[in-house]
Amino acid sequence: MKTFVSLRTCKNYEPESLNNVVETLLNDLGGISSFVKPGDRVLLKPNLLKSATPDEAIVTHPALVEAVAAAVLDVGASVSIGDSPPLGNLSRVLSKSGYDALLQRLPVKVAPFRQKISVEFTDDRLFRKIDLAQEVFEYDCVINLPKLKTHTQMVLTLGVKNLFGTLVGTDKASWHLRAGTDVDTFATVLVQIYEKVKPALTIIDGILAMEGNGPNSGTPRHLGIVGAATDAVALDSVICKLIGHDSTMLRTCVIGNALGAGTSDPEQITVVGDELRGFPLNNFKMPESATVTWNMSDRNPLRRFLQKHMVTVPEIDASICERCGICANHCPPAAIREIHGKMEINRDKCISCFCCHELCSHRAVRIVQPLLGKILTRVIR
Ligand code: SF4
Ligand code: SF4
Repeated sequence: MKTFVSLRTCKNYEPESLNNVVETLLNDLGGISSFVKPGDRVLLKPNLLKSATPDEAIVTHPALVEAVAAAVLDVGASVSIGDSPPLGNLSRVLSKSGYDALLQRLPVKVAPFRQKISVEFTDDRLFRKIDLAQEVFEYDCVINLPKLKTHTQMVLTLGVKNLFGTLVGTDKASWHLRAGTDVDTFATVLVQIYEKVKPALTIIDGILAMEGNGPNSGTPRHLGIVGAATDAVALDSVICKLIGHDSTMLRTCVIGNALGAGTSDPEQITVVGDELRGFPLNNFKMPESATVTWNMSDRNPLRRFLQKHMVTVPEIDASICERCGICANHCPPAAIREIHGKMEINRDKCISCFCCHELCSHRAVRIVQPLLGKILTRVIR
């Protein structure tokens, strides 16, 4: 059976346009009543990486979340907004990210993810157990609301990656550490989380997207699109094409398809909605990272060579760094230390997860790509 992906244009975040677009997207997929019934408890999971104003394009725009919340409330269901931001508590992040008006206007609850529950997987999965936020499983329906952004480690953060936020607190760092430098291992963790959370629907905010070195320090770019699907793997693969890339560059699409969590096969996907002029893009700026996927033992000397000469690494600009210590506190392998009044990165320990880049509010962490990596990126893309 074919999977439907709906794409609609929406120039701005004006409530009237958004309400219309959300209604149209939902109708394209069978209407809100196909997903939500009266009396249901519905969890909305936006991207709330950190406190950031909507025009920075770091968080899912509150106006889109409000339009979805209003559609769900209209059915007679209750709505909560949940996440586990790596920096700051959820109420503070919501408030600083422009969600106060939404929370005052609509009867929507705030649901910080605090408790953990161990979810188990079958033998054919790489990981047999993952601890996820218990709160996620207390709802009848989860609606996933990602932001369309680039991501220094995973290239893009779209629907599947957005659910990494259902890990509680420091568990995110633990999984980065466990996956190490192998992007496919990390993509597998993300796909397994997606399989368990099983959002009924994913609606992506691509009105003001982010290009360049996202997900925190990229450049906002107006794309004017909103997409929706029941299958986030399919939606992500369609978004890849829209921004001018094959979905094979997004490992969550490749692994999600291989594991049967969704499909990235164009033959299996029907795209409906508006005619999008100017797409696919040919100038969307991807991150300067050249993450190389290989499966070599840590003892293999070739791996050490490749790591040194090809893998993109972070570098801290001491002239900008405020020595707040946030990067060091969140670095999964504890590769960052303050030495003689300067934050230093131990290259032997670094796994290029770019959590430091993601979390530095001062934009003091730069992405540095060795020459060989740059050449490889050009050849691959
Ligand atoms: S988070 Fe940024 S400002 Fe803070 S210590 Fe790290 S690099 Fe410096
Ligand atoms: S230094 Fe930065 S990129 Fe390297 S492991 Fe630590 S957080 Fe990840």
